[in-house]
Amino acid sequence: MSNRIKLKGTGIVPDVGIGKALVLEDKTKIVIPYYNVLEENIEGEVERFISAVEKTKQQIEGAKNNLNSDLNSSHLSIFDTHLLILKDQSLIDKTVSLIKEKLLNAEYAFKEVIKELIKKFKSIEDVYFQQRREDLEDIATRVIANLQEKDLTASLDLKEDTILVAKVIHPSDLSLLYNDKVVGIATDYGGVTTHTSIIAKALNIPTVVGLHNATKVVLDGDIVIVDGIEGDVIVKPKESETSVYIEKHQKRLNLEREFIEISKKDSKTIDGERIYLLANVEIEEEFPSLKKFNAEGVGLYRSEFIFLKHAPDLPTENAHYNFYRSLCDHVNGEIIIRTLDLGGEKFFHEVLEKDEQNPVLGLRAVRFCLRRKDIFRTQLRAILRVSGECERVKVMFPLISGVDELKEVLEFLDEIKKEMIKQGEKINKNIKKGIMIEVPSAAEIPDLLAKYVDFFSIGTNDLIQYCLAIDRNNDKVNYLYKPSHPAVIRMINRVIKSANENGIDVSMCGEMAGNPKFTTLLLGMGLRKFSMNAASIPLVKAVLRSVKISDCEQLVERVLSMESASQIERHIIAMNHKLIPDYERLEGIKL
Ligand code: PEP
Ligand code: MG
Repeated sequence: MSNRIKLKGTGIVPDVGIGKALVLEDKTKIVIPYYNVLEENIEGEVERFISAVEKTKQQIEGAKNNLNSDLNSSHLSIFDTHLLILKDQSLIDKTVSLIKEKLLNAEYAFKEVIKELIKKFKSIEDVYFQQRREDLEDIATRVIANLQEKDLTASLDLKEDTILVAKVIHPSDLSLLYNDKVVGIATDYGGVTTHTSIIAKALNIPTVVGLHNATKVVLDGDIVIVDGIEGDVIVKPKESETSVYIEKHQKRLNLEREFIEISKKDSKTIDGERIYLLANVEIEEEFPSLKKFNAEGVGLYRSEFIFLKHAPDLPTENAHYNFYRSLCDHVNGEIIIRTLDLGGEKFFHEVLEKDEQNPVLGLRAVRFCLRRKDIFRTQLRAILRVSGECERVKVMFPLISGVDELKEVLEFLDEIKKEMIKQGEKINKNIKKGIMIEVPSAAEIPDLLAKYVDFFSIGTNDLIQYCLAIDRNNDKVNYLYKPSHPAVIRMINRVIKSANENGIDVSMCGEMAGNPKFTTLLLGMGLRKFSMNAASIPLVKAVLRSVKISDCEQLVERVLSMESASQIERHIIAMNHKLIPDYERLEGIKL
C-alpha cells in the first residue's frame, strides 16, 4: 500500500499519538434553513428559539462539569465566556425582533445576528478577536443544531486510541469528546494561542494544528500518527514507520523522566557556583510543571494574561489579587509580577488604542499604564495587598526607557503605598521593585537606573528587536534576529556587569535565558539568575552542571572581541562541544 500521506502543521504538544481517525463533522456545513414564519406561529417560533438557547446553556454547563476535575479555572472560564455570550440579552432581543418583525425563522434570524457581530470582529486582525469569532461561531452552531434537534455529539462513538481530525475543534467539542480514549488531535486550522491548543496542552494530548487539509485526506478509521514534536501528521503509515514512532513516544517518556531527575539535582557549576533557575509564567496550567522541573520561583509573571482572561472587561482588584495569591500558594521562592505589558505586537485588548501607526514603538506597557493610571492603580493595589501577606512578591515594570519615566512610575507606586497605608491595608512597604531592561536606551544607562531599583531583568525578546530594528514577529526579517549579534552581546554584558557592580540583583527572562546554547556565555558574563519556560530548566541545568565559571569567563573574553553574529555563534557552539560532554545530544532535544 503506497497511499501513505504526510501533512505538515504546527506541533502543540511535543509527543506522539498513534490511533484510528475519527473525522468530525464539519459543523460549518450545517444547513441553515430560511423561511418565513406565519404570523400566528410567531410566539411559538420565539419559544422554540428561547428553549434552544436554554438547552445550549445546559449542554455547556454539562461540558464544564464534565471537565471540572481535569481542567483548572482558567480553562473552565472558556465555557463561562460561552455562557456569557448566551446570556447576552441584546443578542436574544435582536434575534427575537428579527423573528417578530421580519417573520424570519429562528435559525436564520440568530445566524444573521451572530454574522453581524462576527463582521465587526473580522475587521480587526488579532488573535484575541479571532478567538472571540471562534467562540461566536461555536455558539451559533450549537444553538442552530439544537433548533434542528440535532445532537452534535450523539453519533460519536469513541473507540480506544482515537485521533480526532477536524477543521477546528471548538472548546465545547473538546470537552464533550475528551476522555482517555483520545490519543491525538489533528486540525486544519488553528495556531499556538487558540483556545483548543491551550486546552490540548493542559490535557497533554499530542496535537498538531494548521494542517490545512487533514479533513480532506483523512477518512474515518484510517491509522494516523500525530507527531506534535515535529508538527507532522502521517496518514496510513507503513508498519515499519509506526514502530519508529512508538519508539519516539517511548523516548519522550524517558526524556521526561530524565528531565525530572536532572531537575532534582543541585543547580551548581562544577566549581560550586550556585545558579538560580526560575520560571516564566502566563497561566495557571503551568503551575504543575514548575513543581515538576523544580523551578526556584517565578522570574516573570506576564500579567497581561489576567487582562486577556477577563477581556473585554478589565480585571478587578480582587481578580488580580486572587491570581497573585494563588501564585504565592503554588510556587516557592520569589515571585516577580510584571505589571501590564499590553500593546505593541502583543495581544489586542479593547482598552488599547486601535489606530497607532507603529504600535511596537507606541503606547505599550508602562507607557500605557502611565496614561491609564486607573488601570495601573488597580493592579498595583492588588500587588501591594498580596505583598502584605507574602513577602516573596516583587514588582517589575516593563519597557522602561529612562530615568524620568522610571521616577514617574516609582512616584506613582509610592503614592499608592501611602494611600493604602492610610486606609489601614497591610502591605509590604519595602516591596522589592525592579525593571525590565529591554529598551536599548535603558541598556545604555544601567548605572543610572540601578540607583532607583532593587533588580534588573533582561528582556532579550524585546531588547534584540529594538537593538537590531527587527520585528520579532515578522518572518521576512526573522533571519536577522540574532541574540549573538555583537551589539546585543555587548549590551547584555554591560547590563550584567553594571548591576553586579552596583550591588543590585540581575536576571534574564527573555527566551535567550532558556536557550542552553547561551548558558555558558551568560554564566561567563556574571549572570546567576535565569528565568525561562519551566520545561527548559532541565536542559539549562544539565549545561551549567558540567562547566566551570572560569572557562565561561574565557569564552566571554574571546566573544567580546569578535565582529559578527555568525562568528560568535560558531565559537560558542564549538566551546560548548568542548566543555560539555553531552552537548551534542542536549542540542538535539526539542522542547
Ligand atoms: C522580553 O521582552 O524579553 C520579555 C521577557 O518580555 P515579553 O516577551 O513578554 O515582551
Ligand atoms: Mg518584552
